[in-house]
Amino acid sequence: MTAPLLEITSLSKYFGGNAAVSDVSFSVEKQRIVGLIGPNGSGKTTLFNCITGYYPAASGRVRFCGCDITGMKPDRVCRLGMVRTWQRVKPLAGLNVLENVMTGAFCRTRSASEARKIALHRLEMLGLDNVAQKTAGDLPIGLKKKLELARALATGPKLLLLDEVCGGLNFTETQELLEIIRGIREKGTAVVFIEHDMKAVTGLCDRIVVLKSGEKLAEGLPSEITSNPAVIAAYLGTGYSHA
Ligand code: ADP
Ligand code: MG
Repeated sequence: MTAPLLEITSLSKYFGGNAAVSDVSFSVEKQRIVGLIGPNGSGKTTLFNCITGYYPAASGRVRFCGCDITGMKPDRVCRLGMVRTWQRVKPLAGLNVLENVMTGAFCRTRSASEARKIALHRLEMLGLDNVAQKTAGDLPIGLKKKLELARALATGPKLLLLDEVCGGLNFTETQELLEIIRGIREKGTAVVFIEHDMKAVTGLCDRIVVLKSGEKLAEGLPSEITSNPAVIAAYLGTGYSHA
């Protein structure tokens, strides 16, 4: 059996005395989409921060593409092929949209014309080509979310970590983005998908990991997760219906 693309083992992270992430383990296979859900404050974003090297973990290991990347800095992790988007979008506000996406492409090339080519392709994919020259800071939130995704994709990832990328989008924009994410997977990129919209999560994800107070509460197929009494009690609520 081939090793998983990403393998997290017993990862923990504390802020002061509080365990934001506590002894969490799970794996992501190539070309899979794994949902990461849980109440606000359950440690989802912190887990992304630790996996990508933005925060050092207190303990545990992270393996990616067969390498131990525990403690590795985000720029090196990105060059290895793992990139994340930010729940609170972080555009380079003074640069235009095209330039923002080019910064992602410079992870793979030193040539400005090559970076521009990659960036234009990603903008087209996301339907942002008509705002390429707009100042990023002036975009509405829906387009900023798409820009965040375009810039991450421009780094050429094998694994994409998406932190509430559909947050702030309307129904049509969400559907459009879910189709784009399916297309990304078809082309060979695996995804970890943090999202509260359970219809989006169950429709998109092969497997789901549930966090509660920093700990892994459950892991399984969407149908297993949505019928799991502990998950219903901790997160989905008794009114939740999988139908
Ligand atoms: P989620 O993304 O699931 O909403 P977070 O990972 O943002 O959860 O937060 C998990 C816990 O860690 C929360 O209690 C939060 O207040 C705390 N936390 C997150 N980031 C920091 C930080 N930089 N400093 C202190 N506490 C933090
Ligand atoms: Mg979060």
